[in-house]
Amino acid sequence: MLKLFSNPNLKKYQEIISEINTLEENLKTLNDNELRRENEMIKHEFKKEQNLSNLLPRSFALTREASKRTLGLRHFDVQIIGGLVLNEKKIAEMKTGEGKTLVATLPAVLNAISGKGVHIVTVNDYLAKRDQLSMGQIYRFLSFNTGLINENSTTLERKKNYNADITYVTNHELSFDFLRDNIATEIEQIVLRPFNYCIIDEIDSILIDEAQTPVILTENNQDLSIQKYIIAEEAIKYLTLNKHYEIDEKNQNIILNETGYKVVEQAIKRDNLYDVRDPWIAYIMNALKANHLYYKDIHYIIQNNRIISVDEFTGRLMIDRRWGDGLHQALEAKENIPIRPSSQTVASISYQNFFLMYPKLTGMTGTGKTAEVEFEKIYDLKVEIIPPYRTNKRIDLPDLIYKNQFTKWTAITQFCRKIFLTNQPILVGTKTVEKSEMLGQLLKEFKLPYQLLNAKPENVRREAEIIAQAGKLKTITISTNMAGRGTDIILGGNSFSKVQKELYNFLTISRKSKKISKNLIIQYKDISQQLYNCLIILLTDLEFLKLPSIYLLQTVQQNSQRSISSLYYERYIQLMFNKWNKYYYKHYKQENSIIKNIGGLYVIGTERNDSLRVDNQLRGRCGRQGDPGKSLFFLSLDDTLLRLFGGTKFQTFVKTQLEEDEIPLQSTFLAKTLNKAQKQIEERAYTTRKTLFDYDQILNQQRTIAYFERNEMVNQSSHKSLAFTYGEQVLKTYLNKMQENSYFIEYTINILEEIFGKELELKIFHLMSLTTEEFDLTEIKCYFVHEFWLICQKKFNEILLYGNDIFKNIEREQTFRGIDQIWKEHLDKIILLRNAVIWQSYGQKNPLTEYKRQAYETFSNRKEIFLYYTLYILFKTNLE
Ligand code: ADP
Ligand code: MG
Repeated sequence: MLKLFSNPNLKKYQEIISEINTLEENLKTLNDNELRRENEMIKHEFKKEQNLSNLLPRSFALTREASKRTLGLRHFDVQIIGGLVLNEKKIAEMKTGEGKTLVATLPAVLNAISGKGVHIVTVNDYLAKRDQLSMGQIYRFLSFNTGLINENSTTLERKKNYNADITYVTNHELSFDFLRDNIATEIEQIVLRPFNYCIIDEIDSILIDEAQTPVILTENNQDLSIQKYIIAEEAIKYLTLNKHYEIDEKNQNIILNETGYKVVEQAIKRDNLYDVRDPWIAYIMNALKANHLYYKDIHYIIQNNRIISVDEFTGRLMIDRRWGDGLHQALEAKENIPIRPSSQTVASISYQNFFLMYPKLTGMTGTGKTAEVEFEKIYDLKVEIIPPYRTNKRIDLPDLIYKNQFTKWTAITQFCRKIFLTNQPILVGTKTVEKSEMLGQLLKEFKLPYQLLNAKPENVRREAEIIAQAGKLKTITISTNMAGRGTDIILGGNSFSKVQKELYNFLTISRKSKKISKNLIIQYKDISQQLYNCLIILLTDLEFLKLPSIYLLQTVQQNSQRSISSLYYERYIQLMFNKWNKYYYKHYKQENSIIKNIGGLYVIGTERNDSLRVDNQLRGRCGRQGDPGKSLFFLSLDDTLLRLFGGTKFQTFVKTQLEEDEIPLQSTFLAKTLNKAQKQIEERAYTTRKTLFDYDQILNQQRTIAYFERNEMVNQSSHKSLAFTYGEQVLKTYLNKMQENSYFIEYTINILEEIFGKELELKIFHLMSLTTEEFDLTEIKCYFVHEFWLICQKKFNEILLYGNDIFKNIEREQTFRGIDQIWKEHLDKIILLRNAVIWQSYGQKNPLTEYKRQAYETFSNRKEIFLYYTLYILFKTNLE
């Protein structure tokens, strides 16, 4: 046994691992079909006993055997422990390169047995595709089907793929599908099944970093204030920094002083920026923020005349995400590009509440422990550290601190050159797109070749390729935080990516040229005779069967649902893929050992990030699976982190220590200060997320109720006339309240009149004029119900002339319109309410309690408004 159990928590797994290892001996002797049969038996037993834990050892052993036969990878014992941890609703912390993708297959197969679906969530489309393509082979071998959702999937494809046993999907697609499902009006539009089991890869990235902002589904609003953004942008040009306003960079805020207000008021010719009928203050503040806190190529880029925000943590473009409350428009005004109208929130949810909907939620990451408190408090998830398969040999050198940006970047460039001359591959991480490009320019001046990976579309397209080559000799790769997650940099090159690309190219060309040319593959003869033979057979078959190679393209690109006829080819491609892979693997292995001898990958950080986790992710790019590697951060006194959080004591200390410009400083005191600064930022961010979560929880309860009610409606195919049901409810409320409150009576009568017309009103008045002695309440109620029924019947008969179906459809359509309209208005109110309680001071009152109280009130009124609203629309419907 390995020295697995330095962590006492893991001791308990010893026994089960031995059991799995014993089972392996037996499975080895079975043929492929017998293995599949074993899986069928496991499924069968589950049906009888409904107990997964009893079946765990057999299922894990089977998955391992399937992996050996398909991918040629045998799960290490530490990976089995990872799988066990994931099955216990805990987070498995496993370092980069430890094979978390493969670990997930164990609990995925086990939990797929129930047939209720397993979701494996990744941070981007590329990883979802990569993992589904590779791991899908194991699942398919065991007769499970796998699904993949990507941004281009249609509704039908989504539904199909979510129905698979195991589905790979990004957090982005998944959460939006959930929101879209809840505005669907037909059952066919709903793509998700009830949630069951979810494994989140890079869980801290999703549940912590991305959880800072909620997922929001919007629709365009008619916004008449576009001019205001432009005027505000002009108006602030009259303001001077420090005279009229100050920038509070730490809190990302701008403070406008009295004189500042006056200047703006004059500029826009208004007396009061806060005038409720013509409010300006928000426009002015947004214009200031857009100009002083948000920078092009750092916070956003411009593409096709649009502002697209760049995610701070992942470095990726957030195409669908617009900054709210007018900031996005202010940025458009600043950049002088078309201003797009603001949008209305149709549905929203925080990642926290979204993922908490899974009965069984788990995840894995290389950097979980530092966020353990948050995971426990919010998600009730513990973090378990799994020891690495091979000891980590990476060397993290102490940070180097320079006086200013100029000396720092010069030093980085010179250092890159020095390392480049030793042939060692280098990965340089930068915080922003802008800096990645600047470094590129510097390297160019030194005549050093480099690859650039940042959020710019032209670079993203080549992401897989760039990463696959980042571990090759004499390669410099500059990357924003993008490359930080999930990507596997293999010393000497990644054969898997290489083959995928080659095979893809091969099939594309052969498809385009229609007639398949043998010349095309002659080049492969040099590489390997065997590979060449394989390709020849494939081409002959293609020609013979006239099978469009598009099938095969799909197989290589992704595994979409396919027909029986292509199944044979899929297997064939797989076989060839593995052979090809083996060849490159051997080829790259030589380069791999050369690089190992010269020290592995060198990771260079160009500033510390806001979170230690992000720094560690970057360092973790090297030293995978016991490889050698080094990491070194270059910092400067005027880096944002040091400037804002370093403190004056720190600054003076460093300044006195730095004698000459070019000679950097290295000390433990510095490291401690930096760690403290990062902690401060993380704590602040945690408070923001906790607040978001606390507030969203209240909305979450309401959302659950609202979505439940709505869902009932979607699933109902035939029902009693809705109009009639709603009418009855309105009437009942009215009757119950009749005696209590005269204001309410009047109010209701007005509404009833609006809805049902004059006829009913006259009758009501007639009744009201009678004195209470002349009738009893029950009588009155009966009378009302009767009258109401007659009126309804009359209206129905009018509409029914057009046919029963038409009426039902109209009813359904109007009801959904009612539900959605009321919910949207409710969301708007809740957002306003939230801002109001946060900004207003309630004396001793806790804003959260106040928010809860008012949110509850708004929600309870919602139902009543809905009934009136829908009835009104229904009864006013004019079919002409
Ligand atoms: P992580 O997500 O933990 O950073 P990956 O899942 O990307 O790691 O895997 C890293 C590499 O390790 C991949 O190239 C994979 O093929 C390899 N690998 C994983 N498990 C095994 C194993 N049991 N035996 C051999 N190689 C493995
Ligand atoms: Mg990974």
